[in-house]
Amino acid sequence: MELIQDVQVLQQRMLDERAAGKTISFVPTMGFLHQGHLSLLEEGRRRGDVLVLSIFVNPTQFGPNEDFDNYPRALQRDMDLAQTTGVDIIFAPDASAMYPAGSATLVHVSGLTENLCGASRPGHFDGVTTVVNKLFNLVQPHVALFGMKDFQQLAVIRKMVVDLNMPIEIVGMPIVREKDGLAMSSRNTYLSDDLRRQGLSLITAIRTLCRSALAGERNTARLIEQAREIISAQPSAQIDYIQICHDLTLQDMEMVDEHAVVLLAVRFGATRLIDNHYLLQQPA
Ligand code: AMP
Repeated sequence: MELIQDVQVLQQRMLDERAAGKTISFVPTMGFLHQGHLSLLEEGRRRGDVLVLSIFVNPTQFGPNEDFDNYPRALQRDMDLAQTTGVDIIFAPDASAMYPAGSATLVHVSGLTENLCGASRPGHFDGVTTVVNKLFNLVQPHVALFGMKDFQQLAVIRKMVVDLNMPIEIVGMPIVREKDGLAMSSRNTYLSDDLRRQGLSLITAIRTLCRSALAGERNTARLIEQAREIISAQPSAQIDYIQICHDLTLQDMEMVDEHAVVLLAVRFGATRLIDNHYLLQQPA
């Protein structure tokens, strides 16, 4: 496994791999790897000859009052974990290498970015699509893998790839959870035992809503109210949003059908957790 931090070195290396006829699979991350990331890497390993992992805490996708400075970073630990999945190349550039002085281009996907996290984190998705675009141009993957944990991000990236005619297959991977149901996230490390316990209300709400929907409740307003009751019973919970949206358009739905996904973002103390689930699929 090779660590590359220089942008030009990485791009030339990937040109060479392509010229040699290799299939390249790519998993972009912000590091502090957990089993969710590793599941993407394992699938990437199966799909490509050369597996590239990027680790880059991208400043442009964080708002001014968000956790960019505190975001957990542990490159050596990540390298050890990555090695167990057969990663060939780790690309871990500095922010100054990715955004040299004078960078002036943003990639903006309209529509899909206006609801949900787009509403509560202005500019976040422009940061995501811009950095993913740059990473795609550097890594030149045939296939790139993303988690459904970030449901809206996956939809936005799929849209960008179609709209900009990028010759890249985008693979969405299921959410990996802790045994008790908490969706794995690098940010879980911020949670005290008490807040972590309160955070389990997300999966409790998801399970309750799926049970109701599968038993025949189709009215999304009533379902959202059920979730609100469960989550707001937690003393530290501050609900950012609980919405039921169409999986492709991300527009709010009034009645549940097979496209309906419940998406939640809730702050527990200073930590913002997100989760989601298709309402008519049996939850884990
Ligand atoms: P991050 O490092 O948080 O930016 O995540 C990098 C990639 O891993 C994104 O595509 C995420 O959606 C994905 N990911 C994060 N957490 C999980 C999880 N619990 N299960 C599956 N994929 C995940």
